[in-house]
This record gives sequence, structure tokens and C-alpha cells, in this order.
Amino acid sequence: RAKDAGGNRYELADPDSDARAIDRHSLTNHLPAALERDEFFLEYQPLIRMSDGHVDGAEALVRWKHPVHGRLGPDRFIPLAEHTGLIVPLGRWVLEQAVAQTSTWAGGQPLRVNVNLSPRQLHHPDLVPDTIAVLEAAGVPPSSLCLEVTESALIGADEDELKPLWQLAELGVDIALDDFGTGYSNLANLRKLPATTLKLDRSFTQGLQRHPSDPVDVTFVEGIVSLAHALGLAVTVEGVETEHQADQLRDLGCDTAQGWYYARPSAAAEFAKDWATTG
Ligand code: C2E
Ligand code: MG
Ligand code: MG
Ligand code: MG
Repeated sequence: RAKDAGGNRYELADPDSDARAIDRHSLTNHLPAALERDEFFLEYQPLIRMSDGHVDGAEALVRWKHPVHGRLGPDRFIPLAEHTGLIVPLGRWVLEQAVAQTSTWAGGQPLRVNVNLSPRQLHHPDLVPDTIAVLEAAGVPPSSLCLEVTESALIGADEDELKPLWQLAELGVDIALDDFGTGYSNLANLRKLPATTLKLDRSFTQGLQRHPSDPVDVTFVEGIVSLAHALGLAVTVEGVETEHQADQLRDLGCDTAQGWYYARPSAAAEFAKDWATTG
């Protein structure tokens, strides 16, 4: 059972809101030194199997412990790192750290970890060898890693550009399509991608917040779930904040869920204590 299900709901002031005004240039300039000084850290949020409430894995989410501005969320600096190219070494650090940390959790088999990939990483020639090296160094099978890529990162990618993802998928790495439904979802394209999972964007979950839920939103989720399942893809839902949403999404056939209703993202040590042995 999901430990403390629902018990983690508390309201916090947005820890990042003070930082809104921070100069983008200054942040950008400090990114390389921040990586050298180990100012980045990961938080983990559990992925809950809806059929039985067990933990099915965790998504690793990067944060920056800025010496002056305090804790910064990824929306503040990932786009900057993507722009300058620092996302490549930063992304490799995230991958290495996430796989190494989670490989020590849970008795017996390692907990599966989801790692977000930026478009720039996706198109970097070292993606496949780096990923293999990271898995080997941690001594975990490829199936204990899921790489999350957004649809928009794949839009317009030709066969050659998709080759690295296919190679990783053939090795056994899971591929999830993140924020599904937000871009120009080309449903016909789905069959050309090596994805194993669709992560339904939070906006769909939000549509199921009211009592009764918007019938159009219900129909959308129903349709996407049946299409995904027909294509052999699992469905994960993001942003589940209430029991009402969780119940409906489970009834609509979603396989896995993630959201504040179950748990907020937490630091590695805390995650390991609360979740790693309950799966
Ligand atoms: P994402 O991959 O879609 O991650 C889910 C986001 O939703 C996270 O925000 C998570 O904290 C938040 N979230 C989880 N449950 C709930 C909920 O119930 N309600 C609401 N309102 N939000 C919820 P976060 O950590 O701020 O990350 C934002 C985005 O930054 C991520 O979205 C991902 O696109 C990107 N990101 C995070 N870590 C990395 C990374 O290591 N590399 C790259 N390239 N991108 C990253
Ligand atoms: Mg993600
Ligand atoms: Mg997402
Ligand atoms: Mg998102």
C-alpha cells in the first residue's frame, strides 16, 4: 500500500517565488561553476501502481541549491542550461546520480528510476555509450531505467535522430513520453516511437478535479488510455492531487500515478526511508 497515502498533503509557499526576479544572465553564467561545486541535487517522487498502491519507481527531479538565492526549481535553470549546452554535462550528472542512488535502494531488485532528458541530450552522440556506462558502473539492468522525453523533443525527428532511443529501448531501457497531450500530439507518430509509456500531462488530471468531473475531460482520458493500451503502452498520470482524481484515473484504466496526493518529491535519504522498502 502507498505509505501515508494522502498524508503528505500540506500547503507550502512556493519556495521558488522569491527568485522570480533573479537575473537570467547571472544564473546562466553561474551554471558551470555550480556543476563543479556540486550545487545541484536530486529529489525523488514515487510512481504508484494504481492497481495495488505499491511503489513502482521514482522520478528524479533536479534542483539547484544556489548559494545566494536558495533552492531553485528546474523550470528556472533547465531552459538556460539547454540554451547554453550545459545541459549535456548536467544531464549526465543527473543520470549518473539517479542511477547510482536508486541502485542501493530496496532489498533485492533495484527500484526503477525515471530520468528526464532534454532535446539536446537526445541528439548528443554520447547518449547511448554514456547511458550504458552509467548502468554498468551501478551494476543495474537497463530495465531499471526509464528515460522521459517530451513529445515536442521528438516532433520532426527523422529516423536517424530516433536511432539512439531505439538502441536504448532495444537494450531494455524504458522510454516514456512526458507531458503527453500538451503539444501537437501526432497520434499516428506514436507507432514510430520506441516509447513504452505515456505520461499524461497534468492538465488532464486537473480536469478531473471537480465533482462531477467535466465529461469532456473524462472522454479524453478514456480515449488516450484505450489508444495507448491498444498500442501496448502503459499510462502514467501526472499531477494527482486528490483522492477523487486518483479514484477516477484508476477506474479509467491508468496504470501508474504520480502526484502530491501520494507524495511530494523528497531528498534521496528521505525517499529511501519512506518508500524504498515498501515496493
Ligand atoms: P516533469 O518531468 O513533467 O515533472 C513533473 C513535475 O510536476 C515536477 O516539477 C513535479 O515536482 C511536479 N509535480 C509532481 N506532482 C505534482 C502535483 O500533484 N501537482 C503539481 N502541481 N505538480 C506536481 P519540477 O520538479 O518543478 O520539474 C519541472 C520540470 O523540469 C519537469 O517536468 C521536467 O520537465 C524538468 N526537469 C526536472 N528535472 C530535470 C532533469 O534532471 N533534466 C531535465 N532535462 N529536465 C528536468
Ligand atoms: Mg518528467
Ligand atoms: Mg511530466
Ligand atoms: Mg511536466
